[in-house]
Amino acid sequence: MSTPLYLVVLGKQGAGKGTQCDRLAVLYSIPHVSTGDMLRAAVKAETPLGHEVASILNAGALVSDELVIRLVEERFAAPDAAGGALLDGFPRNLAQAEALQVLLGENGVRLCINLDVPIELATARLSSRRVCENCGTIYRDTDPSALSGVCAKCGGHVVQRADDRPEAIRRRLETYERDTAPLLDFYRSRGILVTVNGDQTPDAVTADIESAIGARDLA
Ligand code: ADP
Repeated sequence: MSTPLYLVVLGKQGAGKGTQCDRLAVLYSIPHVSTGDMLRAAVKAETPLGHEVASILNAGALVSDELVIRLVEERFAAPDAAGGALLDGFPRNLAQAEALQVLLGENGVRLCINLDVPIELATARLSSRRVCENCGTIYRDTDPSALSGVCAKCGGHVVQRADDRPEAIRRRLETYERDTAPLLDFYRSRGILVTVNGDQTPDAVTADIESAIGARDLA
């Protein structure tokens, strides 16, 4: 069997990680593992974990390292992650990055893709983002589905994420700079960081990521 393709996607909130991971998951036949999506699903399903993390998520703060590390470890045990995964929202700080090295082995992460966008663009994208509560489709606030509140794909409710309100956005971006940005050096020093300009069309961003993966013969 070929080496599993574990890819870490880093970038500010609003950089387009979710969109790109969905596309790359199809291209490389590996699952999109988003800790944020997993936590939101737990809140929606009102599981014990969901009850534990709901208020933390709404405030835009981080849940404990132990909890997300356990969540990721459990996710990796599923058969569909045996060939690798796209990690979106994890790791988010050095402790989580170290834990990931332990879970996957020193060379387990094959590439870290840094989706780079200016802070003004990230803020604008988050403020105008709306999402279908049911299927997760992302809309802009000016899209018909956002204006009507009814998802064009599944008929679900289109809402604003509680953490896409101004105070929570500010807090999340600050946390990114303080806790997550240092991971760029962590992966750079291991020779596996590639920075891609996130201020392009989604197709152009995907093409840049594909070239970076192709250039390293990873897939
Ligand atoms: P964003 O990156 O835009 O904040 P995510 O969907 O990745 O959105 O995460 C939503 C929320 O889930 C975070 O604000 C945080 O509360 C929690 N979360 C997700 N991933 C992690 C993580 N690796 N460590 C701690 N908390 C996390």
